Amino acid sequence: MITHSFRETLDGGLEKTGQVVPMIPTFVFGWPSGDELGDYLAIDLGGTNLRVCLVNLQGKGKFEVTQSKYRLSEEQKQDDGQKLFDFCAESLKTFIDSNSGEGGLIQVSPGQKLPLGFTFSYPCKQDRIDHGVLIRWTKGFGAANTEGEDVAAMFQKSLEKFELPVTLTALINDTTGTLIASRYVNPTTKIACIFGTGCNAAYMEHIKDIPKIKDLGLPDNVDMAINCEWGAFDSFEHEHLPRSKYDVIIDEASNKPGEQAFEKLISGRYLGEIMRLVICELIDDGILFLGQNTYKVEVANALDTALLSLMESDPTDELLMIIGIFSHFFALETTLAERQFLRAIARLIGRRAARLSACGIGALVGKMGYLEDGCAVGCDGSLYNKYPGFAGRIHEGLIDIFGEKASNIRTHHAEDGSGVGSAIIAAMTKARKDAGLY
Ligand code: BGC
Ligand code: MG
Repeated sequence: MITHSFRETLDGGLEKTGQVVPMIPTFVFGWPSGDELGDYLAIDLGGTNLRVCLVNLQGKGKFEVTQSKYRLSEEQKQDDGQKLFDFCAESLKTFIDSNSGEGGLIQVSPGQKLPLGFTFSYPCKQDRIDHGVLIRWTKGFGAANTEGEDVAAMFQKSLEKFELPVTLTALINDTTGTLIASRYVNPTTKIACIFGTGCNAAYMEHIKDIPKIKDLGLPDNVDMAINCEWGAFDSFEHEHLPRSKYDVIIDEASNKPGEQAFEKLISGRYLGEIMRLVICELIDDGILFLGQNTYKVEVANALDTALLSLMESDPTDELLMIIGIFSHFFALETTLAERQFLRAIARLIGRRAARLSACGIGALVGKMGYLEDGCAVGCDGSLYNKYPGFAGRIHEGLIDIFGEKASNIRTHHAEDGSGVGSAIIAAMTKARKDAGLY
């Protein structure tokens, strides 16, 4: 039922603009050839980190990446938007400066500008590739004066402020980058997903099947990548997804109640908190940690999703890892029965997240008719990469949806979408412009 309504929602998003799941046309036209070449800068503003990289595309699916990472503070996520973009530009400047001395990787002659791809992993409405109006922040971001604004123009302003020798060639979503990067190395890739702090997917659609852009006069026989923004599935109405009371609490306590309903059941930003709410309820009921001081675990967001991964992967009969986690982080002693129970809860939460994710993949596969011929699904993000068994559980979900043919659908760890993907997209965009195409 979920897969079915998901599929209807995806179709609805292609039909009309302004739908809850916006199915955003990305102005990335068709697949890469694999022969894209050259040096590109890329900057990736994600849910947790800011990453700057230099990508050297070597053709034949080969590349090299040099990168630096900067952690974003909670304050930066809520502060003024222009300040956030200033921080991005400043980090880029540091990166360019430290790589451009004698013999450095980056050499810019006076007046020269380097092509820069900006991976901005939030829903943006685009009508060109180098522009995008932020529809809404997700993943707990709330920087002021940014929603409803062209974030490419804001970033451009910061680039000028720091006098950087770069041209912003493309604004892309992380899923779009992942789709293109995965295809660069694996020609059977048709879908890309992110399961990380947030969740989302992108795929390649035939322009003739995107009714809402028919007025643009684009050629019918061309394809365009769609950024689904499927984390928004079932937002506001809550009519398709079964939510527990813990999910409702998370939603209401979030900075965006009602929004990103699917994402709140799945992504790394929320899973730890779901488990913490279950624990707190059982503390209140006098069932867990009797007679102990539980204040540390009663602080909002005190339990990171990474700890669920650890609890699930504890290999010992005594569940020693869980003993360690609860004593170290929460000053709590646990009985074996409590630890077994805690692990069972982690399993339920992790398994539900993966199986719901399978519903999204199933909806896209069904819609595009990929089941018979099969396809590869490039996946990235901390949950997919680090949560034990996440990929296997997605596959189990796909079997429940499609039966044995589910083996035609293979998820795999994707190539670096926000670095490599953004570089390939910059190269594709340049080639299209040079050829005088749309
Ligand atoms: C954002 C998407 C992004 C996803 C994964 C979601 O919260 O809305 O744009 O692709 O997170 O990073
Ligand atoms: Mg990311």
